[in-house]
Amino acid sequence: MRKPLVAGNWKMNKTSAQAVALAHELLPAIKNFDQVEKVVCPTFLSIPAVANVLKDSPIGVGAQDVYFEASGAHTGEVSPEMVKEFCQYVIIGHSERRARFGDTDEMVNKKVKAALAIGLTVIMCVGETLAENESGKTKEVVDRQMNEGLRGLSAEQMKNVVIAYEPVWAIGTGRAASAEGANAVIKDFIRPPMKAMFGDAVSQSVRVLYGGSVTGANASEFFAQPDIDGALVGGASLKPLDFTAIVQAASSR
Ligand code: PEP
Repeated sequence: MRKPLVAGNWKMNKTSAQAVALAHELLPAIKNFDQVEKVVCPTFLSIPAVANVLKDSPIGVGAQDVYFEASGAHTGEVSPEMVKEFCQYVIIGHSERRARFGDTDEMVNKKVKAALAIGLTVIMCVGETLAENESGKTKEVVDRQMNEGLRGLSAEQMKNVVIAYEPVWAIGTGRAASAEGANAVIKDFIRPPMKAMFGDAVSQSVRVLYGGSVTGANASEFFAQPDIDGALVGGASLKPLDFTAIVQAASSR
């Protein structure tokens, strides 16, 4: 039985004061959906303040990225240990990091390993671009991202890994994938590489989220699918009513 997880990626939005206000609004709204694991991912600068609001609550805090080195001359970066001081989760390999900031599969793999080593739960993102989708390369791309991103991990470490299937063409576009289509990618292209690497039990126990224009209005369609275990939510995670509706939809899965 995979516990649904709904994570909000606040991206580069909200000052620290605004992030605190959002956390205060969300806390009473979503704290009672016990069947759902709930996470919010503010910017690095807002994490300590948001973590303070959510301490002792059932809402986890995550970072949107992490560097793979432990310390040293890496200007602008944040280490796994620094993230772990305030967070339980970290998003790694988001398509915006891959497309705009040069995160390669190899870097994703190093970040995943470093984050797991410090005790963080990793939400690793995979997904194809529109061009890759239209040229029939979805399987090839997702398979490569899965294999390279998870290379060298143990079955034991996979207990702290969550995969987010985020077709790039569906992110922030208002054009969500169909629930059946997303489920098919997860079932046919995302669980099989995990089965090949770590065995059937692991491939069936790892949670796989869908991400890409999820809203309060469409979330339940995704959660009705057998291989979709929750959502990674961008835009709608900044709207308390919408995010609450998504959490609620996950709880009645
Ligand atoms: C995301 O960036 O992870 C995402 C899913 O964004 P949106 O929900 O806005 O499409």
